[in-house]
Amino acid sequence: MFNSFIFDKDGVLVETEEARIRSYYNVLKEVIPHEIPKWKEYYNWHNRALTGKSRAEVVKGIIQKYSSLSTALLERRELLKKKWKSDHFNKSDYKEVKKEVESWLKNYDFDDFPPESLLSIQRLIMYADIPLEEKCKPIERMLEFLQFLQKKKIPTSLVTENELKRTKKELKHIGLDINSFEIVVCKDRTYCKGEESESPGNKSEMYSLVNKEFSKKYKNCVAIEDTRPGMLAASHGGVPCFLPCEKKFTKQVVSLLKVLCFPDEASPEPFAVGIDFGGTHTTVGFGNTLWLYFPRSFKEEDPEEIVRFLKKMCNPSMVQALGIGLATTFVPAQKKKERRVWEYSSKFKKLSKIENGYFTEIQELWTKKVGVPVVILNDGEAAALAEHRRGGGRGYSNIMVMTLGTSIGVGFIFCGRLHIGPYSSRASHIILDPNGEWDKGENHRGCWKTLAGRAALYELADNMGLERDSSKITKKAQKGDKKAQFFYELYAERVARGIANIVRPLPLECVVVGGGIAQAGDILFDPLRARLKRGDLLDNSVASVVKIVPAQCEEPVVVGAQLYAEEALSKSD
Ligand SMILES: [Zn+2]
Repeated sequence: MFNSFIFDKDGVLVETEEARIRSYYNVLKEVIPHEIPKWKEYYNWHNRALTGKSRAEVVKGIIQKYSSLSTALLERRELLKKKWKSDHFNKSDYKEVKKEVESWLKNYDFDDFPPESLLSIQRLIMYADIPLEEKCKPIERMLEFLQFLQKKKIPTSLVTENELKRTKKELKHIGLDINSFEIVVCKDRTYCKGEESESPGNKSEMYSLVNKEFSKKYKNCVAIEDTRPGMLAASHGGVPCFLPCEKKFTKQVVSLLKVLCFPDEASPEPFAVGIDFGGTHTTVGFGNTLWLYFPRSFKEEDPEEIVRFLKKMCNPSMVQALGIGLATTFVPAQKKKERRVWEYSSKFKKLSKIENGYFTEIQELWTKKVGVPVVILNDGEAAALAEHRRGGGRGYSNIMVMTLGTSIGVGFIFCGRLHIGPYSSRASHIILDPNGEWDKGENHRGCWKTLAGRAALYELADNMGLERDSSKITKKAQKGDKKAQFFYELYAERVARGIANIVRPLPLECVVVGGGIAQAGDILFDPLRARLKRGDLLDNSVASVVKIVPAQCEEPVVVGAQLYAEEALSKSD
């Protein structure tokens, strides 16, 4: 499947996160010694809430969690200032602090540094005191995998957001020869068999650089990352990327990596595969173990090209079944109890040409061609199943799961079972304003999508003089910006109207809200819940019962498609 590999360093080849978390813990111990939790408790919180985030986000998160930290750090300002002016900062270990402090000094006077910057200074000073042995422990299983590849003469490369000097030191420390990699791209320099050159500095551009070099020679390269931001960087750089579902390289993960890349290797327990054919990305889930992201969409591809891809993903000797989530509209077909891919669907147009788009026939055809049982469902339905079994909808029998994105995807669980009707839900097109804007390409106006889809959200932001970026607006609102908060109140009103119109006729216990826009968290959920309880959209007797909860699953469409395949398989037994 792949013939060249790009490794991320931290978290993939070396364990650096524990020492990094330790350095923040040391700061707490030093600055607010009477209020800190036990190490294990702190480690678990930090690892769950902050690992994989940028340093700026990490210091912000810690200050939010420990409120007395700000005051204590501000009281230490003079001490830190003295340290900064002392000779210690000329030590090579403090180079990073020095650079960072100098960049802040361009905008602020030292006396105006916010607590976040003081926390960073304190922490970076203490980090330098942690010995290399503790900062950098090898991840033995992945080292073995790397050496296994290099033994087979498979080209490998390294991409890291550390500086070259530190990378060299760490590789030496874990017994790796830097020259065994074809290219090593660091934040500051690029290293290639003794030759140094400039580095683009930004991680996705670093990936793109290796991709350019490798694709000339080997065509199929893949990255291995341990965090979602890292995976996104690889994707933006045009490189497919493996990511362990639990973000750790367990024995199971490494043996699956081996067997996926080299089918002759010993096979693990059979598992189900789920695939999310999205509009811009394609995501594959292998069991509950490993994800593989492709920065490409298949929506313009021929069905035969899709089958070729599915065959590559599903080796029949280890895959039990394949579930596919399609971002496509399904309509009722002539045959009884049948569904058909809508011929006007903007995605997967060509699928509607296979056997007239009959759903069971596509499944049968693909089952024959791929060699494992194939089931297909709508992406909203897949997300509903995932959230009900493993996410925010656990424990309820009757739920709606909605995804706020380009449009509004919806799926239902009734009596604990995924509802698969003769067509996929078109809840995004319920008419909320009969005189509203036309939904482009549809024969109706004023639907939910035109009011609460991403385009409508951007228009609202434009009109209010805010940026077209919901995560930036969220940050503003969290900081207390009134306009940004009002933006989410207005948006929550639009979401609430749609929910009320569905919940009124359909007796549900819970509505799970996910998708990119729902990442806003309480900033969206607080006004949304309050709006539904005001009494005019829903009777209070209903509004007080229906829970509005955030989605919890990562990759819900992949997980739902997998679950659907597994459940279909157990039914046929
Ligand atoms: Zn519509």
